[in-house]
Amino acid sequence: MTDLKVAVVGSGVIGLTTAIELQKSIRNANVSILSDGFNEDTTSWVAAGIFRPGGEFKGENKEITQKWIDDSWYYWKNIQDSRYGAEAGVTELSGYTFSNRSENAVRNPYIEKLVPIYRPATETELTSLCPQKWKFGSYYSTLLIENSIYLPWATEKFKADGGTVIHQRVDSLPSLGEKYDIVVNCAGLGSQTLCNDDELVPVRGQVIKVDAPWLKMFFYADSSTYIIPGFKSVTLGGCRELGSYDLNPDKYVSLGIRERCENLVPSLKGAREIRTLVGLRPYRKSVRVEKETKICMCGKKVKIVHHYGHGGYGVTAAPGTSLHAVRLVKEMWAGNSKL
Ligand SMILES: Cc1cc2nc3c(=O)[nH]c(=O)nc-3n(C[C@H](O)[C@H](O)[C@H](O)COP(=O)(O)OP(=O)(O)OC[C@H]3O[C@@H](n4cnc5c(N)ncnc54)[C@H](O)[C@@H]3O)c2cc1C
Repeated sequence: MTDLKVAVVGSGVIGLTTAIELQKSIRNANVSILSDGFNEDTTSWVAAGIFRPGGEFKGENKEITQKWIDDSWYYWKNIQDSRYGAEAGVTELSGYTFSNRSENAVRNPYIEKLVPIYRPATETELTSLCPQKWKFGSYYSTLLIENSIYLPWATEKFKADGGTVIHQRVDSLPSLGEKYDIVVNCAGLGSQTLCNDDELVPVRGQVIKVDAPWLKMFFYADSSTYIIPGFKSVTLGGCRELGSYDLNPDKYVSLGIRERCENLVPSLKGAREIRTLVGLRPYRKSVRVEKETKICMCGKKVKIVHHYGHGGYGVTAAPGTSLHAVRLVKEMWAGNSKL
């Protein structure tokens, strides 16, 4: 049987998860990751990594979106339950979402029936956990995927299973058709240029990683405020700046984040800063998981599967959308030969 040669462009959480799934589910696949940035140079590295899809996360329709989320939950949960959960950077995490603005801000229809606990906060929790009193609140348990652990772990797993990793900037997806049978585009915001996609826009985020090992629960509150304990540090956030490409930390944004987080959880006052990080979320109204055929310079028809545009929820949804992308690869290849 002929080997299927696949190029996965991008090595963020989307590219790596897709590449691993391709290896797992297509026996004769020969998979290469081509990327111009790895680990710290990706947006994925900046993410706090909490499994928490927001209402603005959307696929083509409600059913597809919910399936992505359900598939993702079980995928991450399986890793967390396995003997290599900690090695892969996946663990469970519980905490609170509070708001004084709207009850909708503390609800999450995507996961309320999926996660083990999702309940309204009690009167005591609303009034005595934080210095301020809240009108609305929820308590729930979910998962945390620490990308500073998961990305290197996934890269090693991919290589150990026979995958090839190539440091390369890709300027044209069709040009890869000369060497590969199928190209999977997981370039995140890089797809703006690669696909001329003006529906894809950056949403700038800034976080402060602090040393506060005493904090064991997450907190979300109004004004994009969050405190998320990870394996190595606690992430304080955040901000959402639509259309900004600025990768430099802004000291005024940092001051605002610290003030809001310390008001929420005063024990954070004085927590040592480890690092401030900035990332550009690849936001698209609808995440693109789609087939396309293009003609390359050599005249060959090139099969492409696009897989990008996860905005602020790429860590959450990577497995679900990756399984979808792999199904599309199989469909395209089935036109050539049996898998
Ligand atoms: C502050 C912040 C906090 C976040 N917190 C969370 C969270 O708690 N939970 C959650 O689910 N999500 C979170 N996110 C969102 C999440 O980080 C993104 O959705 C996710 O990282 C997108 O992954 P990606 O692989 O598509 O993109 P990236 O991680 O950016 O990877 C893109 C890859 O493509 C490569 N590439 C691009 N162009 C080219 C090219 N032309 N040639 C070769 N390679 C190319 C890049 O080098 C990179 O390797 C957060 C984001 C930010 C900024």
